[in-house]
Amino acid sequence: MHVKAQQFITYDTVDELVQVLAQLRGSGERILHIGGGSNLLFTRDFQGTLLHSGIKYIEEVSRDDREIVFRVGAGVVWDDFCAEMARNNFYGPENLSYIPGEVGASAIQNIGAYGVEVDSIIRAVEAIEVATGMPRVFEVSECEYGYRDSIFKNRLQGQYIVTAVVYRLSVVPVVHLDYGPLQELKSRGEMPTAQVIRDAVIDIRRSKLPEPSELGSAGSFFKNPVVPVEAYRQLAANYTQVPHYVVNEQQIKIPAAWLIEQCGWKGKRHGGAAVYDKQPLILVNEQQATPADIMELADLIQQSVFEKFHIHLHPEVNYI
Ligand SMILES: Cc1cc2nc3c(=O)[nH]c(=O)nc-3n(C[C@H](O)[C@H](O)[C@H](O)COP(=O)(O)OP(=O)(O)OC[C@H]3O[C@@H](n4cnc5c(N)ncnc54)[C@H](O)[C@@H]3O)c2cc1C
Repeated sequence: MHVKAQQFITYDTVDELVQVLAQLRGSGERILHIGGGSNLLFTRDFQGTLLHSGIKYIEEVSRDDREIVFRVGAGVVWDDFCAEMARNNFYGPENLSYIPGEVGASAIQNIGAYGVEVDSIIRAVEAIEVATGMPRVFEVSECEYGYRDSIFKNRLQGQYIVTAVVYRLSVVPVVHLDYGPLQELKSRGEMPTAQVIRDAVIDIRRSKLPEPSELGSAGSFFKNPVVPVEAYRQLAANYTQVPHYVVNEQQIKIPAAWLIEQCGWKGKRHGGAAVYDKQPLILVNEQQATPADIMELADLIQQSVFEKFHIHLHPEVNYI
């Protein structure tokens, strides 16, 4: 099912964005800035204006014998940036290859995969304040990054539009191969290049995740819950195989996919929506799903995980 917005505006420069914002400010219309839309669930028609960045450049800022710094326009497709960096053997974003979406959203969402989160390579985020049209540069330390979280999703939600992100990459090999399927690259003897890691990541993702062009989804629907160590111990007493990652001395992260699978949801359908059969953390639009189909399915999953494990799953997807 399709939903509609009243108006959709794409701009190509920061000046154009500032002008558009000044016009919209007078009209009092509701504004939502989107990227590729890959983490959004529109629950109904959007009564307002959708803004989208067409700011596209990848610009080298500085380089020394260890690091290279790039400033990248918010409208650049994230994986185009990853591809260019891997081609040049600059290290940093290769584990995050093939994540759908755009550069602007990478800094809002703090995207992560295979043991790396993007805040580890962000130096600064350039933005425009919606209320005033004034520019502001956020140093990475000001962005309050956490697991799939940032100041832009909390305290400053909807208040700033990201126009560019400054990334700091390594020109010498710095690799992260601890995540399960990537460990195999360690055993090959020689240090894998950024391109080799990127290719391996893409292979893994293609084998596990639905291609957005073929089957609609918003990626991982829920965040992996982080529970106190005591709650994990109780769980492990009943389920010896429970997978887990130690966050710190007090907290353990449990894969939401495992919890959902244990509740028997893998491959199940609800209306036109379904739980992806290869990865139960993903809800897919199999047959013209309505927003209600997806929301109801998500609710049912949350309820059954809570009933069985006393753990709350929180959506990673943005409900609009
Ligand atoms: C198949 C699939 C696999 C995925 N795998 C992963 C994964 O491995 N790891 C991961 O972290 N995510 C994953 N995702 C989720 C998604 O790719 C990311 O959240 C991505 O960053 C969304 O980018 P987007 O450009 O589509 O943003 P959108 O979904 O359009 O927007 C996301 C949020 O950012 C805001 N936003 C977007 N652009 C701007 C801007 N310029 N200024 C201000 N606010 C802005 C929006 O308002 C919204 O709140 C996956 C999604 C899919 C469909």
